[in-house]
Amino acid sequence: MDSFDPRLIAVRSAHFIGGQYREGPAGMDVSRPSDGQVYAELPVADAALVDEAVSTAWQAFKTSDWATRPPRERARVMRRWADLIDADGAVLGPLEAVGSTRPHKDVLGWDIPYVAEGIRFFAELADKHGGEVAATQTDRLGMQIAEPYGVIAAIAPWNFPLSMASWKVAPALAAGNAVVLKPSELTPFSSLRFAELALQAGIPAGIFNVVQGDGRVTGDALCRHPRVAKVTFTGSTATGSSIMSTCALVGPKPVTLELGGKSPQLVFADVPDLAKTARTVALAITGNAGQVCVSGSRLIIERSIMAPFVEHLQGYFNALKPGPTWSPDATLAPIISRLQATRIDGIVQRARQAGAEVLSGGGLFDGLGGAYYQPTLLAGVDNHNPAVCEEIFGPVLTLQAFDSEEQALQLAAHDTYGLAAGVHTADLNRALRLIRQLEVGTVWVNRYGRSNDYILPTGGYKRSGIGKDLGREAFEANLRFKSVLIDIG
Ligand code: NAD
Repeated sequence: MDSFDPRLIAVRSAHFIGGQYREGPAGMDVSRPSDGQVYAELPVADAALVDEAVSTAWQAFKTSDWATRPPRERARVMRRWADLIDADGAVLGPLEAVGSTRPHKDVLGWDIPYVAEGIRFFAELADKHGGEVAATQTDRLGMQIAEPYGVIAAIAPWNFPLSMASWKVAPALAAGNAVVLKPSELTPFSSLRFAELALQAGIPAGIFNVVQGDGRVTGDALCRHPRVAKVTFTGSTATGSSIMSTCALVGPKPVTLELGGKSPQLVFADVPDLAKTARTVALAITGNAGQVCVSGSRLIIERSIMAPFVEHLQGYFNALKPGPTWSPDATLAPIISRLQATRIDGIVQRARQAGAEVLSGGGLFDGLGGAYYQPTLLAGVDNHNPAVCEEIFGPVLTLQAFDSEEQALQLAAHDTYGLAAGVHTADLNRALRLIRQLEVGTVWVNRYGRSNDYILPTGGYKRSGIGKDLGREAFEANLRFKSVLIDIG
């Protein structure tokens, strides 16, 4: 089933606390990005309800055996959870697609299997760690033991609701913690089903809870709660700064921050297949309509191939067909909200005023109900142009030409962000040089975007983040280490 009727998708407008749905008074409308229609109301958890959710999580952490049972048993339950998610496409698929920008066919073909396999990856790590025996004097035994924190607060963005939540929740649970998740208020519902399936799989009630609401009230109360031992956040750099300062003031307590990006794609004239590289570059900025933290939003290209490359790009951009997430024919996702589309357009207009030339797109599609932004290519920009400086989070690609490797690197350097970069070249030595010189958390060579290699951590340099998601690092970030020293009699 590739399509569905959005009017038939029932959502449960609730929190999920202590293994039960908790309805609450409606606090805000929630709209479908695909057609702009309000389809549900969302309860907003105030500080009192957040306190109840965190206290429930703490009680479950202390009284259930989630943290103390043999790690392989915890892993087995998590694998069962992954299997339930894999088998739940008929419910989870439309639920994720109806209120987000994720096309239903991609949710079934990618998001759901990606989330399930990610849970298995972290489950496998449950017993693959240990502390170490320290080199103390020999009449003592010194060692480190790893322990879960207790209650971890996870705050997620809207762009890939399920998979972004799973990056936070899966390693925290695998390490034995209890979690309170706050999904984005724009995409709140699929995480309820996600939590319900965890309960069905055997994760004890209260170990995984979901509170609904905005950042100002609910997210803030979560960060401030004294029983929240750590906050793991994915979202914008501005919100990440604010969360970190809150956690410093009320704690200090540790934070993991996965933040914004403005990632360059460097294309050299020696690429063997121009059309293939152009397709990779185009996909990296139009996938999920550019609403991806690692979107390759700055094309930096060797001048000699610029003209034919631009032609390929324009061909690809023009072939994309905007349409609702439930349409199997659509190839360009909606923008999450009218407000966000207006924000994207505002940056494009400011970029034009600062000298940018529009080679493709440059505005919203008309008459489609939801907000859809034309894939846009902007030339004539320098590193001070707003379209180069600011994270746009839409299908907008800037174009800058270089004549030397040194100049390419100068253009690629960004004052603020350092999330990812792509390098397209047939010259292995050049690629190896650039990998070292690019100040970013991830470099892709002759490809762009993440794979299913969960073992590779993801995270930003500079103001793109602190700490890592995925990989062993994400698992270990959910543990704290206790030193033990024993005198031997
Ligand atoms: P956002 O910062 O507006 O919101 C993210 C979450 O934080 C939401 O759940 C929101 O309700 C909550 N929030 C907002 N203010 C808060 C506060 N003061 N205290 C606590 N919680 C608060 O981000 P968004 O618009 O949902 O997502 C888009 C951003 O996320 C982009 O900047 C994108 O680059 C980034 N992102 C980064 C990664 C990564 O891995 N680095 C992945 C996906 C998205």
